[in-house]
Amino acid sequence: MEKIQCPKCRNRAIKNGFQSGKQRYKCTSCNKKFHLKYTYKAYNEHTNSFITSLLKEGCGTRSISRVLRISKKTVLSRMLKIAKEIKIPYVNRLGCKFEVDEMWTFIKRKENFTWITYAIER
Ligand SMILES: [Zn+2]
Repeated sequence: MEKIQCPKCRNRAIKNGFQSGKQRYKCTSCNKKFHLKYTYKAYNEHTNSFITSLLKEGCGTRSISRVLRISKKTVLSRMLKIAKEIKIPYVNRLGCKFEVDEMWTFIKRKENFTWITYAIER
């Protein structure tokens, strides 16, 4: 028998009945309930990270919805959930305002790239 791991904490999970005809599992330490494979793609483990990456690339809600094949309302609710988890950077708590910018460059070959990030206090 294969061991099922919790996607949240990687501890051992046990069977916990069925939902929609599919086996459901429950983590023994954090009590998270999950399926191994979801029918709706929004419930997959990496959906939030895909949404974050696409937002960073400048994609809109509708384009993310089309690319990931999930509903626009799901994208919006996930965006709110992701935004609530963002912690305020420490520099903002001090009341200082910084201008931050970055650039990348390479020497001879593009594989030899390096990033330069700087912050200037206004
Ligand atoms: Zn767990």
